[in-house]
Parts: sequence; C-alpha cells; structure tokens
Amino acid sequence: MWKYFSHSNLFRNFAVLFETKQIFLTFYIMQKKLWMGAAILFCGLTFTSCIDNADNPADQPQPFDPKGSEKFINEAWMDKNVKPGDDFYCYALGTWLKTSPEDDAGFQYNANTKQAKALCEYFMASSNPLAQHLVKNFKDTKRKKMDEVKTILDRMNIQKPKNAADVLNEIVRLRDKGFYPIIGSAVDGENNTHSFRAVVTLGQQASSAKSAIDMGATSALKKMIENILTVIDEIENPDLKITDEYVKQLMTRSENILKLEQKLFEYTVKQSESVIAVPGLSPARETVESNRIATRRAGEVSPFTLEGLKAAFNLGDKASFNDSKIFKEYLEGINAQLAGNDATALQTFYDYLRYQPICVLGTFLPVDKNASGDDYSYTEEVETPDETIHYFSSLTSSIPLLANQLTLEKMRELSTGKETCTTMLEEMRKLFDERLQKLDWLSDATRQAARTKLQKMQFFVGVPDHVYDAQFTLDEGNTLIQDMLQLYAQNHAIKEKLIGKKLEESPLLMMDISEWYGVHNAYYNPVTNSLNILPAFCGDNLLPANDEYTRYAVGMVFGHEMTHGFDSSGSNYDENGYYRNWWTDADKTTFVDKQNQLIALYNRLEAYPGQPANGTRTLTENMADYGGVELAYALFLKNMTAKGMSGEELDHACREFFLHYAKLWQAKLSLDMLKAYYNDVHSCHGNRIRGIVTLMDDWYRVFNVKDGKLFVEPEKRVKIW
Ligand SMILES: [Zn+2]
Repeated sequence: MWKYFSHSNLFRNFAVLFETKQIFLTFYIMQKKLWMGAAILFCGLTFTSCIDNADNPADQPQPFDPKGSEKFINEAWMDKNVKPGDDFYCYALGTWLKTSPEDDAGFQYNANTKQAKALCEYFMASSNPLAQHLVKNFKDTKRKKMDEVKTILDRMNIQKPKNAADVLNEIVRLRDKGFYPIIGSAVDGENNTHSFRAVVTLGQQASSAKSAIDMGATSALKKMIENILTVIDEIENPDLKITDEYVKQLMTRSENILKLEQKLFEYTVKQSESVIAVPGLSPARETVESNRIATRRAGEVSPFTLEGLKAAFNLGDKASFNDSKIFKEYLEGINAQLAGNDATALQTFYDYLRYQPICVLGTFLPVDKNASGDDYSYTEEVETPDETIHYFSSLTSSIPLLANQLTLEKMRELSTGKETCTTMLEEMRKLFDERLQKLDWLSDATRQAARTKLQKMQFFVGVPDHVYDAQFTLDEGNTLIQDMLQLYAQNHAIKEKLIGKKLEESPLLMMDISEWYGVHNAYYNPVTNSLNILPAFCGDNLLPANDEYTRYAVGMVFGHEMTHGFDSSGSNYDENGYYRNWWTDADKTTFVDKQNQLIALYNRLEAYPGQPANGTRTLTENMADYGGVELAYALFLKNMTAKGMSGEELDHACREFFLHYAKLWQAKLSLDMLKAYYNDVHSCHGNRIRGIVTLMDDWYRVFNVKDGKLFVEPEKRVKIW
C-alpha cells in the first residue's frame, strides 16, 4: 500500500462544494446547515484572537505599497493591530477574515472554482458521444428517485446474511460491482513488489461519519440513514406500515450503521498514521506480526481473518493482504460482532451492505423538488441553479479516469503556466542540491544518496500527453443511475487489468485512474519518486503571468512536493521508489532529533481554541511546508538580487513574500471545520503560516519580531534542509 502526499487532502472534499454549490449526498446536509452556519460561528469565535491582541505597535513595519499595482498584497486584508510576532496569519489576513463573506474560501479555492467552471462548461458542450450520453441523462428531469433506488437495490441483490461467511460473500460480490464496503480490494500500488496489486484492506466509508460528527451534523446524518433505510424497506415491502415500533427499531438500526462507519473511520485514521511513520524511520508497513489476533479463537474458523479473506476474495498471488496489526484488530472487531450469529449484528451488516451503495450513488439520484413530506426525501432541494453541474462534479470524483479522458484537451489549454512551473521546479532542484552539498549535519554517504534521489525525481506538470485509454461504454436507454452502475463496474474491471504492471513503467497510471486532474492539488509519490503538479496549479489563476509575488507563493507548493521526498516518511524510499534505507545510523539519529524539535514547535500552536495542535500527526506535511517555503524563498531572493534589488527595497519585497505566503492559505474556516481538520495530516490553514514563519530568520528581521507568542529563540529554529 502506498499513499500520495498531497498538499491538501481533506480540504479537497470541500473543494467540490465551492465548485458547484452542491456536494455529495452525505455532505449535502452539512453544506446547507453547517458550512453556512459554521462560517457565521467563525466570525464570532475563531478569530476573536485577531482583535484581542490589539495594541497598535508604532514601530511595526508597513508593507510596500506601490500605488495602483494589483500585484502586491491587498493591505485592506491585513489587521495591523495584531503584532506579526503574536499571530502572523491574523496580521496578514485579519481584516479579511473578519469582514469577508461567510462562504469565501479564499484565494486558492476561488481560483479553482473558475477552472472547475470552465471544465464543466467544456464537458457539457462536448461532441464526444459518451459525454453527450451522460449530459442528456444529467438533464433528464423525469427520473423518479424511488425507481432509481430500486435499480440500485436490484442490481446489488444483497441476500440477508445468516452468518459471517454470508456477510463476506456479499462484500466480495459488491467488490465486483465497484463498491467496497467494510473490506475493500481496490487495485493499488504495492511497495514490496513495486507493482499494481489488488490490495485487500479497509473498506470505503459510505459517508464520512466522523467528519459529520465533528462538524456537528450527527443528527442530520442519522436522519439521512433512517430515510435511506426506510426507502429500502418500502421498496422491499410496499405494504410497510410506519408504526411506532418500526420507528423505534429504525432509530436503533441507524445508530448501528453510524457506529460501523465510525469504526471504519477510526481504523482508517489509525492506518494512515501508522503509514506516516512517526517519528523517523519506522517501516511504512508494519512488520508482519504473529497471527496472535487472528488465531485467538482457537478452534473457531472465522471468515474475517487474513486466511478467510484470501479464500473469499479468490485473488491468489495477484493480491496483497494488509497484514498490519491495525487491520487485524479491525477484523477482530468484526468477528466479535458477528460471533454466535448475533441477530442484531447480522441485521446491521445487512442494512449496511444495502445502504452503502445507495449512499455512494446518492449523489447521482434525482432530487424530488416536491418531496416535502416524503419519507424518503433524504436530500434537500438542490440549491444550485443547474443540477447538471452537480452531476458533473460527482462524476469527476466517482470515475476520475473517464472525467480525465473527456476533459484532457481543455485542461491542457488552461495550463498556461506549465513552462513557468517547470522552470521553477528545475531552479528549486538546483537550489536544493546546493543546500545538500553544504549541509553540515549529513555524512557524505547520506548526502550523496540524497542528491541522487533529488536528481532522479521526475516532475509531471499540468496534464500528461495521454491518459490511460481504457474504454468505457454505456447502453442506450439507460437512466443516469444505470449509467453509473455500468461505469462503476467497468472502472473496477479496468483497474483489475492493471494488476501486475510495474509502477515505474507508467508512473502516472495511478493518477490517471484514481484522481481527476481537474482537482486543485499537487502530489509527491514516493513509490515512483515523482511529483505531480496538477493543471489548476499552473493555470493563470494560481500562476498568473502578471503577478510575480503570487507565483513565488504558489511556488512554495512545488517546493513542498519536492520536500515530501525527504520528509519523515518519503525519506524511507530510495531514488527508484523502493523502500530502502539510504541513511547512516548517525545521520538518521540527527534527522529524527530534528523532526522531534519540529513536532514540539507545532505542539505549542493551537489547532482550534483550546486544542493544542498535533505536531506528530502533521509532521510530514509540516516538514514539506518548511522545505517548500525555504526553497521558494531562496528562489525569490536569488531572482530579486539578480534584478539588482538590495537594502530596504529588498526587505520590502521580502515582507511581500511572507504576506503572499499567508494569502496562499487564506480561507474562512469555521470552528467546526477546524475541528474536522484536526484529524487531517495537514496543519490547519493558519498554522501552515504561523508554524513556518517562526523558522525563518529573515521573517524575524524584516518584520522586526523580537518577542511575541510565535517567537522562537534563534538556536531553537529547526534547520533541516
Ligand atoms: Zn503535502
């Protein structure tokens, strides 16, 4: 198993929201009730600290203000009553945070919204027959939700399980249709064989239950689950009477589904944290431990053991099985629930196996505009003026390969800054290499290995010339849900065909099939030692030809991805992407010590009021942020000096650099969203600024920071790369 290291994971889910003013079924309630509501909360609570610090220091340096120029930071965004040394994020953006519209997601996401709109318009007007087929169905207003749900249920045809073996059997059948509840067998890159494998591991959540709970949407989510279960019951039993007894049972069933989703989430977090390898250089996959857990029930053969999964998924030597302790614990939990064929547990799994595909496909269900009073109206009326935009956005998330194929030309056209980006990357590689040559804490052996890895790192910028050309087909006369059922199954089959291919043969294949290139993101992939800057980051909105300072700020993202190759996890992989130690023991010890210092520096920040940040969980991303800003700043200084800038003029320019860096993470995150963010491997937006500037000597100098909440003594400013 492997993972991408992206510059922004969790927020990507919310990006869909801004693109279309519409989101997945499961997030829909959150959008209306929470995003807006939470944003209001935010004004009153989250950033009160921006005001509290007001003491209007007289000696505070002012930003350079070239009259009439748009390329410099908007001073109206700043809150100069905040001392930069107390809270640089609020200093740079405090007024914007207090006064901007409550749904303003800031610079990056507003830029992304523009691109997403252009791609959607391109798709809607496409002459490609498959696109036209889908667009026709997007616009079909005659579909009935009940009929479409019945179509899903008929296709899944889940049989009521009598025991754990039946449950597993149904899971395997759903896998073939492209759905992965409870246990998944998605095709993924695999470290040991360095090839595509069917990796049997945790299943996919239907809804992000934990996020919903963190965002205060528990009751809305439970209501939605109840509504979906009621639809299922009504379809299966048209004479269903909604009695008090039924409602009572329904509430219990809904809670049980919620618990199952929470468990899945909990283990997903545990697993991702174990892969992040903190602190330092623990193995990316846990070493195979004894089958202690799996065989604890002596004499009782349970399907939910590695052996049981191997037999049920019938993948032979084509598969890898997650043999981590965490996964075994998860299986043990399922076994414990299903032990003795407990009727409630069997009912819960039966409910969940029918609920999950409906929930996953919910985003493609029609919205009954006159549904008030209907028991199965588990979505609210769509706010967007055009539902087709919503369906397109859902398609890009569900079947990214198809969306990539159908929008490739437009994405290429929008990547106007592709050359600029590539040039910046190459310049940063040079600067990084110069630093590696001078670093005093590396032995020559480690230094040389690091330099080799850096030299061999591949850069993929914008969209590739071709994406994987596997064919999708759709039957005439389909409804949209029939389309999606076909596409999900085809998508699964296409992925399975990749099994056995070596990763280095096509380093972008995983991107082609699993990520929409239109998403506003960038990745480092340790297993191919390659980084990928997606088109949104080299379009004119984020890499504007006429705005040099913004280009350097966004260039930080490029340096960030490069540094992922050398963070606490990426540094475990060699120049060819193999999991191999290239560190001397002494260097490794120093490296881990530096990581621990960085963890401590982030632990002193707050994730949200009253909650200390988790420097351990966010270590890889903080390391990448630190490297990214170091590289972008070094490039900036080099180019400004080359232009002949010096003295106060250069210092002004440096202030602009740091203020633009704050702009990069401009976003109005509510307290609830900050709480949801707390589970992410990235620091929250504000801390991505607050944490990094305190490591930069020049920041202290140009902003005249000599004390304050953020102040770190010079000798304690961690220097890594
Ligand atoms: Zn990252």
